[in-house]
Amino acid sequence: MKAVRATAPAFAGGETPVSALRGVGAAVAGKLAARGLGTVQDLWLHLPLRYEDRTRLTPIRALQSGVPAQVDATVEAVERGFRYRPVLRVAVADGSHATLVLRFFHFRAAQAAQFRPGVRLRCFGTPRPGQHGLEIVHPSYRVLADGEDPGLGEALDPVYPAVDGVGPATLRRLIGLALDLLPDGPVLELLPASLPALAGLPGLRESLLTLHRPPREADLAALAAGTHPAQRRLALEELLAHHLSLRRRRLAQQQLHARALDGPGALAARLLATLPFALTGAQRRVFEQVRADLSQPRPMQRLVQGDVGSGKTVVAALAATLAVERGCQVALAAPTELLAEQHLANLRAWLQPLGVRVAWLAGKVTGKARAQALAEVASGQAQVVVGTHALMQEGVAFHDLALVVVDEQHRFGVQQRLALRDKGPAHGQVPHQLVMTATPIPRTLAMTAYADLDVSAIDELPPGRTPVQTVAVSAERRSELVERIRAACAEGRQAYWVCTLIEEPDEDGTPGQGMKLQAQAAERTFEVLSQQLPGVRVALVHGRLKAAEKLAVMRGFKDGAIDLLVATTVIEVGVDVPNASLMIVENAERLGLAQLHQLRGRVGRGVAASTCVLLYQPPLSALARQRLDVLRQTGDGFLIAEKDLELRGPGELLGTRQTGLAAFRVADLARDAGLLPQVRVLADDLLERDDGVADRLVARWIGSASRYAGA
Ligand code: ADP
Ligand code: MG
Repeated sequence: MKAVRATAPAFAGGETPVSALRGVGAAVAGKLAARGLGTVQDLWLHLPLRYEDRTRLTPIRALQSGVPAQVDATVEAVERGFRYRPVLRVAVADGSHATLVLRFFHFRAAQAAQFRPGVRLRCFGTPRPGQHGLEIVHPSYRVLADGEDPGLGEALDPVYPAVDGVGPATLRRLIGLALDLLPDGPVLELLPASLPALAGLPGLRESLLTLHRPPREADLAALAAGTHPAQRRLALEELLAHHLSLRRRRLAQQQLHARALDGPGALAARLLATLPFALTGAQRRVFEQVRADLSQPRPMQRLVQGDVGSGKTVVAALAATLAVERGCQVALAAPTELLAEQHLANLRAWLQPLGVRVAWLAGKVTGKARAQALAEVASGQAQVVVGTHALMQEGVAFHDLALVVVDEQHRFGVQQRLALRDKGPAHGQVPHQLVMTATPIPRTLAMTAYADLDVSAIDELPPGRTPVQTVAVSAERRSELVERIRAACAEGRQAYWVCTLIEEPDEDGTPGQGMKLQAQAAERTFEVLSQQLPGVRVALVHGRLKAAEKLAVMRGFKDGAIDLLVATTVIEVGVDVPNASLMIVENAERLGLAQLHQLRGRVGRGVAASTCVLLYQPPLSALARQRLDVLRQTGDGFLIAEKDLELRGPGELLGTRQTGLAAFRVADLARDAGLLPQVRVLADDLLERDDGVADRLVARWIGSASRYAGA
């Protein structure tokens, strides 16, 4: 690849550092670099968030609430008041038989003095209904001199994503300078125009110019929706660049070495013989895929998707036996302490009778216990190590780590996954990786987000599960639910009451502000329900409890000593209590479908018919109604994930700290999913041709400091 690359045309202009632009000193260059804007090309791709139309004037009478507009008007009256804080109200008129109020909360005296009756203003902003007709809060404006006609803009004004320390006007000016350097022809255009995928789409240069400076007649609705041909042209190239980068990462991984875990499988057979159940067909199939991967001297990179309750853990345990059989170590990481504890309990129950030593390493393990665990891990005495993020920290050294299992991978960042991989043996080998997730990833997404992983699906639930009946109920009917819980508990059944807030605990597992608020909400609910339900044994679990307290509560619930468990979303993953058959989820309309589906997976694990009540705050928007309907209508996690993607978009589905997915500049996987098959064909072609174009595309869109670097 290198030889060809050297003869490829230099990328004129694009790779020029921003410091070459007029007016960019070291300070500004530093601020831009901090935002990933190091070259002129980066500025080309720093696309507007939205546009402001200053190409026309709107008469005040024609203003519409919520629609940004530009107005020329004359000041009629000025009022300075004080309601909790100073306010300035400026009434303006334009002869269209209507007045508009401009309202300011922050203003300097000199500014207020400008607004004398009779002064002409040009202003821009979004009108909203106020006390006396429409008003604009903090419009952008300028005072017009006598007889001045400032004219109108030719193109729509771009509004760019902010860059810390660089004002919007400066940023606009610099991007304008960068655009002046846009080359023409094949230097810029890396994709052959003859490609069917490009048919009917403008070229790259034209697309960039259209997006930065849309003509006044541009289709603003299409631009806002991201469906403008110029956006599709860029989205195609961006998706291609990401796909290529993942494919290359995968190729690089296949060059790495790993221990071939190709023993006879005697330990696995013993585990299977002692399990109280037989594997489902899907579990057997996936285990065989894993086993085939592990027997190779190349690192396995496999994602196992399986709906909640599909039985992923036992597949991981079976994989672990193959490493143990070869005298190697296994690390299993789970995103929460609760989940990790449950894995620990399962693996100990399954593996210790077979003579396998399972160690425990979580953040809460400190002092002597920690030192001992670390020593066992370092000496290799601990064959399987279960834990949380603590496993990935520095200071945790393995004797011979050959397999890394990461559960609920969407909760970890790619970097964390890699940190664990790097704990493998040094002599040129890396551990095999098995990633498990119950968040089903739609096929379209899997292709892009996980182009570096092989995907297996456990698409069958163990026998004997009853589908969960799901209903959506307004929070106004809460008291009926309290009765329902009373009745269920009187019959010896158990229930969950899940309190949610939109904020989640920080993804690195440290309790964030969100977790604190969640905990407070749960505490209040716990108090209320305890009062309303005398005779029902109510307990509370949330992320701020000590691990031992949490575990004690969970154990009490599991043993039937607790009837009603008030909880935060800490119970989302993994908790397994078959006798619980009623779940109430508060503020369900604010949660993602995938998360609700996860929560719902806590019930329907036993023989009793189970119900999940989705409590919502009325009024319910049409979209929210549609989303809750999806859950009412299906229990199929894959279908739910597809719908979630459709209704919310991939950023929310996978979490913003995912593989950089949310960092797309133009592309949107939900909207542009139709482009993906073409992307794949294009990628095959480019990788085949090996003429340096793939490198340049990746460099252009993802940068030399690739976010996938080393991944
Ligand atoms: P998940 O895929 O959600 O992680 P788990 O691995 O926690 O699911 O399994 C859920 C429950 O199902 C556990 O109690 C597990 O022991 C049980 N289980 C797993 N496989 C089977 C099977 N083939 N037959 C019956 N029960 C099973
Ligand atoms: Mg699980």
